[in-house]
Amino acid sequence: MIDVRGLDVVFGKGADEVRAVRDVSFRVPEGATFGLVGESGSGKSTVLRALSGLNHDWTGQVVIAGQAQTPKRDKAFYKLVQMVFQDPYGSLHPRHTVDRILMEPLSIHGFGDAERRIEQVLGEVGLGPSFRFRYPHQLSGGQRQRVAVARALILEPRILLLDEPTSALDVSVQAEVLNLLQRLKQERGLTYILVSHDLSVVAHMCDELAVMNNGAVVEELSVERLKSHAPEHPYTRQLMVASLGYDRAAIDRFEDFGVEG
Ligand code: ADP
Ligand code: MG
Repeated sequence: MIDVRGLDVVFGKGADEVRAVRDVSFRVPEGATFGLVGESGSGKSTVLRALSGLNHDWTGQVVIAGQAQTPKRDKAFYKLVQMVFQDPYGSLHPRHTVDRILMEPLSIHGFGDAERRIEQVLGEVGLGPSFRFRYPHQLSGGQRQRVAVARALILEPRILLLDEPTSALDVSVQAEVLNLLQRLKQERGLTYILVSHDLSVVAHMCDELAVMNNGAVVEELSVERLKSHAPEHPYTRQLMVASLGYDRAAIDRFEDFGVEG
């Protein structure tokens, strides 16, 4: 479903140049959930932004649903691929009701039966009709993220790119939203890329994962191997120690294993 070869993203020029993504390659079969993990700043969001069409400044090959992608995408692309961001407060317009937030993609893409689609998608994400005319500030964090998921699904895409979708939520609410995403994936036959800095989230959700450090993929492995504590790369093992033990001191001792320069 997704085939990425030699993806590079560079920000800035000269002394300010940041090679945020370096020669990243991976494939995601249809119906799979692929994890992208690494500490903050390792380039995970930049990969997703390139795939989703938000960043136009990349080089490499990106094939999605059999079609080679150019940096600029047409409207039809967004019926295939949608993104969900970490902070639903930032990504939902504060002065628009849930109804208007969900209506917007439908009008842009000229969908007719808006009424039915809005009610249906709200039900699917576990929000009743009473939520339809509320504003984001009248919702809890978990409810806001459900609205963000509803907005991503309303055009019936086949792929969701999930950028730390539960990192801003309380732990108890995180599990609810992750379970919702699992259920929606099964019901709709979706393909996911899930970005997280938390290996326990990835172990719960994914089949296969790539570990990023300093812009590069240092290791790709199955969740089985992760769970049997068999990652080979020292960076992955560092990440595991930090994730399992919630050990801030371990993260502070992290070494970089990415390419220099
Ligand atoms: P992650 O999502 O893994 O935390 P990001 O993809 O956000 O990492 O960032 C990777 C690197 O690219 C970081 O060094 C970040 O500062 C840099 N970066 C990201 N976006 C921009 C931008 N728009 N301009 C300049 N540098 C950026
Ligand atoms: Mg990020």
